[in-house]
Amino acid sequence: LCDEGADECDNINVVVRCRPLNEKEKQRCDEMCLRFPGEGQAWVNMDNMNGTGGAETQSEDVLAHSGVKRLLDMAIDGFSCTVFCYGQTGSGKTHTLTGPPHLFDNGTSMFSESHGLIFRSFVYLFNQIQNRDDMEFTLTASYLEIYNEKVIDLLNIGTNTKPLQVRWSKKKRGFFVENLFEIECSELDDLLAVLEEGLRNRAVASHNMNEYSSRSHTILTVNITSEQKADDGVYLTKNGKINFVDLAGSEMTKKTNSEGKTLEEANNINKSLMVLGTCIAALSDHRRKDGHIPYRDSKLTKLLADSLAGNGVTLMIACVSPAKSNISETLNTLRYASRAKRI
Ligand code: ADP
Ligand code: MG
Repeated sequence: LCDEGADECDNINVVVRCRPLNEKEKQRCDEMCLRFPGEGQAWVNMDNMNGTGGAETQSEDVLAHSGVKRLLDMAIDGFSCTVFCYGQTGSGKTHTLTGPPHLFDNGTSMFSESHGLIFRSFVYLFNQIQNRDDMEFTLTASYLEIYNEKVIDLLNIGTNTKPLQVRWSKKKRGFFVENLFEIECSELDDLLAVLEEGLRNRAVASHNMNEYSSRSHTILTVNITSEQKADDGVYLTKNGKINFVDLAGSEMTKKTNSEGKTLEEANNINKSLMVLGTCIAALSDHRRKDGHIPYRDSKLTKLLADSLAGNGVTLMIACVSPAKSNISETLNTLRYASRAKRI
């Protein structure tokens, strides 16, 4: 599954990240059922539970080995790129993207020694940009949440905040969120402030709701505009972007698809996650590759359409638990991952 770098021109790449057993699982003597014997292979131990070890990686390894750097380079070069974390609730999606949970009460910075992939990507982005003397860059960032098909601006939470509309524009050459805050970021600290503000507001928005974070999707987007002055004095402008997407728990897809539910009912559970699955299935079915891909059927897929299709690039990080008790969700995630790999 994880043959990163094997085919540089794939527009969807897939890596698998397995978290360690947690304390609860250890206490109840849950067992490891996953092994990664070698590159590109994942073994799921279905009956004999002698599985040895999962792959325990640190955030820095994820940045180095997942292919995210290639995406960031492409975003700088004007492509639309997406990194999304897929997996059941508790499999490590948020941990991978933003690091361990943060406390804000004491007013100190949330960033400790274990930064997530987003933080490390920001550092990498600014390093790359500073190395390009021949170009001028403008960066803006936005951070939104999709809950029950409503788009909420995580940088503009007020008492009477209304959900935002997703529209299509010829000028912008795609879908966009109307009236979404876009913060200009001229240095690393500006990007970090956006991340911090969004996480803080997300915590506020989810107050008193247990299932909120497992049911919602967040998208943090960095838009990168570059201007390069050519010899004849004409400016060459490129518009690239990178989306970091923390998806709803994948167990929601099953609830959505469960017996006899009409699409209408399913809408209320998690339409976006279901449609993402349908789009990926349609994209991976080569007979349908030129056929209809139902991007328009959900907010999430509208906003990711340009990086899933055409000349955009997407990286799926499939997050899994190594525990035997999670084996059926783990298998679902790995199946979804291998389907995405066929695109
Ligand atoms: P999700 O966002 O998929 O629901 P989380 O990222 O919140 O899951 O992870 C669930 C718990 O497991 C958290 O306490 C998190 O810190 C821990 N965890 C996840 N991945 C790892 C990892 N690679 N190493 C150590 N702890 C992890
Ligand atoms: Mg999470």
